[in-house]
Amino acid sequence: MTLLHQAAQAIAQADAIVVAAGAGMGVDSGLPDFRGTEGFWRAYPALSAAGLRFEEVASPLTFQSDPTLAWGFYGHRLSLYRHTLPHEGFGILNKWMDRAPRTGAVFTSNVDGHFQAAGFDPHQVHECHGSIHRLQCTECDAPPWAAHTLFPDIDEAQCRWLGPLPSCPACGALARPNLLMFWDGDWQSAPYDEQEERVERLLSGMKHPVCIELGAGTAIPSVRSFTQRVVTQHGGTLVRINLREDATDTRMGVGIAMGALPALRGIDEHL
Ligand SMILES: [Zn+2]
Repeated sequence: MTLLHQAAQAIAQADAIVVAAGAGMGVDSGLPDFRGTEGFWRAYPALSAAGLRFEEVASPLTFQSDPTLAWGFYGHRLSLYRHTLPHEGFGILNKWMDRAPRTGAVFTSNVDGHFQAAGFDPHQVHECHGSIHRLQCTECDAPPWAAHTLFPDIDEAQCRWLGPLPSCPACGALARPNLLMFWDGDWQSAPYDEQEERVERLLSGMKHPVCIELGAGTAIPSVRSFTQRVVTQHGGTLVRINLREDATDTRMGVGIAMGALPALRGIDEHL
């Protein structure tokens, strides 16, 4: 039996589908992968020219020291994620989830909002690193607010925000994206803590879920710790889809060395 066939069998037998997605999930939608400095610099030549690494730009400190650069980067990403269509693999996952006897759940480290954009019920999604589609204040405790009235105007060649910077509706101070950055002690996680509670309630009712992990590397372990927990605590089976890091304990499930979309299509053909 091929790995794709094994994965299909696990999905057909599961009482619920749990999706766990990392950065590799977005690659097939055409989103840049920031893995390694090279990938980041290919996507942002202006930051390459300035010698700035992802970790340096994606930091609350940059919102203090150079806010038009920080907002140049995040404003560009906000527009990019808004205007990029989630690939067909999202629809395949949603279809499997609907077919399963119990309500499924999604855990994602991606801040692009693409599960919601692809039609997943927002009540089933936990965005563990927050979302680029919300803003928070850099000064006061105002609750995070939706970014839908923000329309970035960016000088892409320089990676600079043009015009007045986003500000807090409560106090007027500089706003920032409501997502987890590097060395970020100021992230307001309340909206995502609520998501987590809902997802945990869904998980607690599952008896033998299949956990489909997509494009989640070992470098930032939040997604992998989640899948590990679903498999051990909820008696689940793991389907790990990862182009480069597919190694999987056979007692936990199967590892498939493919990109997210081709793997999902391949599994779907067996269902
Ligand atoms: Zn404020």
